[in-house]
Amino acid sequence: MHDRNITQRKNMSTIKIGWIGLGKMGVPMAENLIKSGLPVSVYNRNKAKEEELLAKGAQTAPSPAALIEQSDVVIVMVSDDRAIHAVFLGEDGLLSAKTSGKTIINMSTVSSAISREMSILCSNQNNHYLDAPVSGSVKQAESAQLVIMVGGEENVYENVKEILEKLGKLTLLVGGAGAGNAAKLAVNSMIGFYTQGLSEAILFAKKNDIKIDDFLTIINNGALANVYTKTKGDAILNNNFEPAFYLKHIYKDLGLARDQGLDTPLGEAAYESFRQAEKTLGDEDLIAIIKHLDSSK
Ligand code: NAP
Repeated sequence: MHDRNITQRKNMSTIKIGWIGLGKMGVPMAENLIKSGLPVSVYNRNKAKEEELLAKGAQTAPSPAALIEQSDVVIVMVSDDRAIHAVFLGEDGLLSAKTSGKTIINMSTVSSAISREMSILCSNQNNHYLDAPVSGSVKQAESAQLVIMVGGEENVYENVKEILEKLGKLTLLVGGAGAGNAAKLAVNSMIGFYTQGLSEAILFAKKNDIKIDDFLTIINNGALANVYTKTKGDAILNNNFEPAFYLKHIYKDLGLARDQGLDTPLGEAAYESFRQAEKTLGDEDLIAIIKHLDSSK
């Protein structure tokens, strides 16, 4: 029998959190849990990235296996399916610890297939798995304004919902294992299309002697005004392509969506465009697609 209530039985403030993955998103998200008073231990492959949070009161662990031993709930925020394999199944990975009754929440943007696989493996060890990817970027992570879409069993979700609420403004259970990932890939498909579309429209306006500044002012005062257009428009005007969301990650996400059935006209076009751009612009922000489109003329 699975011990479904292990988390519920504990007082929320004493639940020990383990955090894996201290990249652009992981650092501010884990920091919000520390600020909320929860005991947090961290593990990052590159140990140097742990320093910032250790200085803010986090504990550390030498491996994912050691981390899960000392935690009730482990949250994983790493880049892709390969990283998930390494964290769960690698030597000293989470599942090598042979623990039970733990809840693992995977907040990375990965495929539904890997979530279903990890969910079964966790369940075989009497652990619980949720996929809980996020919408929003570094700013929303810092201000705990993320939108969190969850796949998994309802009772497991209810037991950890309070923790997720410390990271975002909305958490929503959308289905069983992998459903959170499917919702996230749909959201990111839209981001891919929109980023490509915004860039193409700006270049078209420019080609017809409209100043980019003027064009963005028009957009930002019309029906298409939104935070994303404003932020990415400012980035273009300031020639600032410092990554908030890596271009290589949207390429990864469009690829995952394609593998999961996004074989549509825009899906194919955006995937191909970001595939080409990723070769040279992968480590820049995704809005750097405009530089690729400009140079490919
Ligand atoms: P990031 O800055 O590139 O950080 C990636 C993290 O994954 C790092 O901690 C990295 O460890 C770890 N990692 C990569 N490969 C690994 C492996 N084989 N084994 C163990 N750890 C590994 O990425 P991010 O921007 O924080 O994004 C994290 C996830 O959130 C991604 O799935 C991304 O698509 C998603 N997301 C990002 C944004 C955004 O705006 N940035 C928004 C929503 C969702 P090292 O430090 O050792 O390399």
